[in-house]
Amino acid sequence: MKPVGEVCAVVNTLEFLAKVKFCARCWSCMVGSAQVSGLLRKLTRGEGVPEDFQLLGLLSFGMKETARCKGGKEAAGVLADLLSSEEYVAHVENRRCPQRSCSGLTTYRVVAERCAMCGLCKQVCPEGAVLGEEYLPYLADNVPYTISAEKCTKCGLCLPVCAENAIELV
Ligand code: SF4
Ligand code: SF4
Repeated sequence: MKPVGEVCAVVNTLEFLAKVKFCARCWSCMVGSAQVSGLLRKLTRGEGVPEDFQLLGLLSFGMKETARCKGGKEAAGVLADLLSSEEYVAHVENRRCPQRSCSGLTTYRVVAERCAMCGLCKQVCPEGAVLGEEYLPYLADNVPYTISAEKCTKCGLCLPVCAENAIELV
């Protein structure tokens, strides 16, 4: 496991569940881990609800108590760690992914003070989500670019082209 702080703990747990080897001899891991993965994917989409906590806790307990293999016990422990973390709370109660990894909880925006109005982000955006006009020195009303939250699919293509580091994820 990568330590919390480098990678979103929810994504980290999902990756762990996808890789862990279950012996497939008991119901608790096979069905339980699939249910857990489904609930965690909901979290990454920003659709987590407080009620999921109890269900995830029950699944973790069930896997820990009844799993016959090491993989099942490990998965239960990783899930229990996630449920007791501040990151889990942030995803559900604050609707926020502290690591900016979960697309459903992350928004792209232009920092107006840093935007040089070069238009490169608008050129690469496949969704037409970047709004604005290039800087023209003879105009007095140049306005920094903006990103439409409704159109932005969070593909990330605009990030590397901005030389001013003016696009951020919030
Ligand atoms: S690429 Fe950066 S500096 Fe250029 S318009 Fe977009 S946000 Fe502004
Ligand atoms: S993240 Fe993708 S869709 Fe959103 S503004 Fe940037 S290039 Fe466009």
